[in-house]
Amino acid sequence: MQIDQQTSDKARSIKQLKLQLSVLTKELNKTTEQLQLLEIHEESSNHLLDNDAPPEEISDLIRKQNKISHEIITVKKKIQKLSARTILKAELIVLPILAVLIFYVVSNHYQANSADISNDIKTRYLIENLQGQTDVTHKYWNIAKGTPLTVSIINPDQLSQEKINTVEDAILSTDALYIDNSLLGKTPSDGKSEYFKGWKGALSTIPDTEFYVPTDFNIVESNDGPGQIVIVLSQLEDPDGYSGYTRSIVDNSQILKSFITIYDADKLTDNQLATIVRHEFGHALGLPHTSDPQDLMHATIQTDYPYISECDVAAIQSLYNNTDNGFCNDIQ
Ligand SMILES: [Zn+2]
Repeated sequence: MQIDQQTSDKARSIKQLKLQLSVLTKELNKTTEQLQLLEIHEESSNHLLDNDAPPEEISDLIRKQNKISHEIITVKKKIQKLSARTILKAELIVLPILAVLIFYVVSNHYQANSADISNDIKTRYLIENLQGQTDVTHKYWNIAKGTPLTVSIINPDQLSQEKINTVEDAILSTDALYIDNSLLGKTPSDGKSEYFKGWKGALSTIPDTEFYVPTDFNIVESNDGPGQIVIVLSQLEDPDGYSGYTRSIVDNSQILKSFITIYDADKLTDNQLATIVRHEFGHALGLPHTSDPQDLMHATIQTDYPYISECDVAAIQSLYNNTDNGFCNDIQ
């Protein structure tokens, strides 16, 4: 009885700590966003003001960001400690249940088709202009032909090189895959559809457009987040259960900077990580969500073929030709 009481007390403490963690994570996201916006303002106004912009606000925010990060680590450690003890005491009761559960998970896994993604992946994105308005339609990069886009990977939690390679591959791979239309429910049913593993390969197939489609990406690992596209591999869990989030700052018709956050990056399989990077990078290039649930750019990624489709490529082409809204209309 006493053990039961202690176990439920622990569960309550863990619940409270998790709540605290969720508040802290939200606060951290907010601070990071404020900071990113300030930096963008600084970048775009520096040449006008000749370094007149006061840096105190930025250093205050960085201090706040560090403080919250430390608090998050402390809370996470407390949760881990409590969870470990709870598991020790409860393992006699829980182990048989776990064994049954594992059996179900394993057998379901083998019954499922070859898809690596067994759970739907939730994503979201936001486009904001310099006035802070978010009711902006998606935009494109406006860079000189042949100029590479710099992509920086922020990896504060020191993820393995394998994970970094996975991220790079989703951007730089030129590998194409050909999937039978009969498997996709597309026509002609005896034909095949082309998919790409990486954006470089997909974008390289696009003929000249009104605005240059970036095809060269200079990827750097740096915690300062330089360049046009910043990818943050976070070990934090998003409180609302999202796996990926892209936020783009735009001015008039032009994207100035895109920030991609991948949540729980250490817990994702390489295939899941590659899928999320592929999807979020589509947003970073200007693509909105598609209505086709079988496409990579659907808000909830649920396709068995989470690669860059002909439809996504056509959407980029029309976006950079400024001919329509860049929506992937599911070409049959
Ligand atoms: Zn999305």
